[in-house]
Amino acid sequence: MADVIHLLPDHVANQIAAGEVVQRPASVVKELLENAIDAGASHIKLIVKDGGKTLVQVVDDGSGMSVTDARLSFERHATSKIDRAEDLYNLQTKGFRGEALASIAAIAHVDMQTRTAHDEVGTQLKIEGSEVVAQEASVSPKGTSISVKNLFFNIPARRNFLKSDQVELRHITDEFHRVALIHPNTAFAYYNNGGELFNLPKESFRQRIVHIFGSKMNERLVPVEEQTEVVKISGFVVKPEFAKKSRGEQFFFANGRFIKSSYLHHSVVAAFEGLMRSEMKPAYFLRLDVNPTSIDINIHPTKTEVKFDDEHALYAILKAAVKHSLGQFNITPVLDFDHDQNLDTPYNFQNKQAISPRITVDSNFNPFEPNSPVRNQYKKESAKGWENMFEISGNGNDNFSSVQFESETEAPEIFETNDQTLDSNPATFQLQRKYIVTKIKSALLVINQNRAHQRVLYEHFLRSFDQGNVLSQELLFPTEIELTATEMTIFTGLLPNLNALGFQIEKTKKGNSVIVRAIPHSLTETNIADFIQGYIREFEYEGQKVHSGHDHMAKSLSKTLAIKNGQLLETEAQMALVNDLFGCAEPKLSPFKKLTYITLQDNEIENKFL
Ligand code: ADP
Ligand code: MG
Repeated sequence: MADVIHLLPDHVANQIAAGEVVQRPASVVKELLENAIDAGASHIKLIVKDGGKTLVQVVDDGSGMSVTDARLSFERHATSKIDRAEDLYNLQTKGFRGEALASIAAIAHVDMQTRTAHDEVGTQLKIEGSEVVAQEASVSPKGTSISVKNLFFNIPARRNFLKSDQVELRHITDEFHRVALIHPNTAFAYYNNGGELFNLPKESFRQRIVHIFGSKMNERLVPVEEQTEVVKISGFVVKPEFAKKSRGEQFFFANGRFIKSSYLHHSVVAAFEGLMRSEMKPAYFLRLDVNPTSIDINIHPTKTEVKFDDEHALYAILKAAVKHSLGQFNITPVLDFDHDQNLDTPYNFQNKQAISPRITVDSNFNPFEPNSPVRNQYKKESAKGWENMFEISGNGNDNFSSVQFESETEAPEIFETNDQTLDSNPATFQLQRKYIVTKIKSALLVINQNRAHQRVLYEHFLRSFDQGNVLSQELLFPTEIELTATEMTIFTGLLPNLNALGFQIEKTKKGNSVIVRAIPHSLTETNIADFIQGYIREFEYEGQKVHSGHDHMAKSLSKTLAIKNGQLLETEAQMALVNDLFGCAEPKLSPFKKLTYITLQDNEIENKFL
């Protein structure tokens, strides 16, 4: 049989390597930024267009390259950073594999301009899909500029796999954070579609963190310092009271490089034990410096997973160091945090006997009668009970009047309102601060308060969108909310929809905050900043949803604003919720397709007693 094995041509080998190194535009950003750092740059500029799909450009004022080096840099396994295999265990640079530029040039249009301090003229090189299409002398500043255009132009499957611009930008920003955080001595600027996202001067590590994550971060940081023979630890953890439920800011850097390590993460979590609820996630910015001979960086092409020689020792030292810092800065444990104060018996009632509920029957009672005093009362009360989050106004022009109308027509089918017996009163009570129990015709109804309210709010917001006649209330004192650059990018996409909903929000001239001048009638003023920030967080990694219109927006708002399980509801608010739920077009399911209530039929109850 003839021989069948042959060596792959370089451009094919490069494309294969690219599959590992370049997953998305953010991978290009990481490689180019790291090259600029390795070149000793003191100023680095990152420019992206359309989430990096159209352009990723990095401009540095580092060493630059000679003509020959410029040409060689795009060859596979071409590197200036190591000579021998042993060098792998004494790495001082970010790169060493010599494959990033070759990989990138195999799957994009690359344009490089570079000049060293010794040369008077520089070199310009254009490469498309591993092929050099132009090389000429050029007048360029000292340093290197590499632009990468039309990523994956020759691999449509990969290109189609990319997410929306917004999501890709979010990944790029993540990479930018990682590199910028651990190189505070380097100045960085970052532009997206012509707008400046970051402009970071040379500064301290702490200043860099604050610059990136906003000034409120400053008072939240607790320094961590520890020096042992195995490792030097320095950096900050965020005070436990500012921990978030979402992953948030978690950064480990080993020998100047961002790394991921669930093992070390666990050690930090263990140090926070007893200081915050278990579902909260600690935030941290921790630098670990170990002897380069005791760390293996070459276990993964992207170099974010590394292997430490003495992981167990590291775990223990890190945990102790974080614990020590938290203790030193007087962060006292939150004792018994599972204890729900709402469940305490008020002091005055502690020794009183339980009294059986009295039942008074009003035979004329009809909750669905528009002018029923009860109806009017819970209209008022429900708003109070839900902290005014959702006001049902009696105003005939209000969108909500249509719900009441539906409810009035549908009600008799569900509730036995004409039957003048005890059962006709659809009295409610709350179970486990989670369910509203009520009686219908021939069954017991158990309603999940959170899901039910989500449904009510969801339909309310959808109608508001459709009819465009939302009521806003102007704030007496407009609230300014500071946002990080990332939050601002996401927020910009959300703004038109928010304003259509009755918000009046503008960006300030400073560019790092927004001013809320008016809010929808259905919200309260108190938690506006929390609401906006929580809302943005929902979109952080799900950028495509930003554009997916009103339905998603209504869902998201209803999720954020619905009364939560665990919240005590007054009887009036319970009744209002029941009525509002059955005034909905689709009361059975929450907007997220979960059951809002279950029924226990009379005969099922009977059967249980057989
Ligand atoms: P590696 O960084 O692993 O060495 P790369 O493919 O990223 O591999 O780069 C190849 C070589 O090109 C580097 O070793 C370096 O000598 C040179 N190089 C790349 N980017 C720059 C830059 N911005 N400035 C100066 N030299 C660079
Ligand atoms: Mg490199």
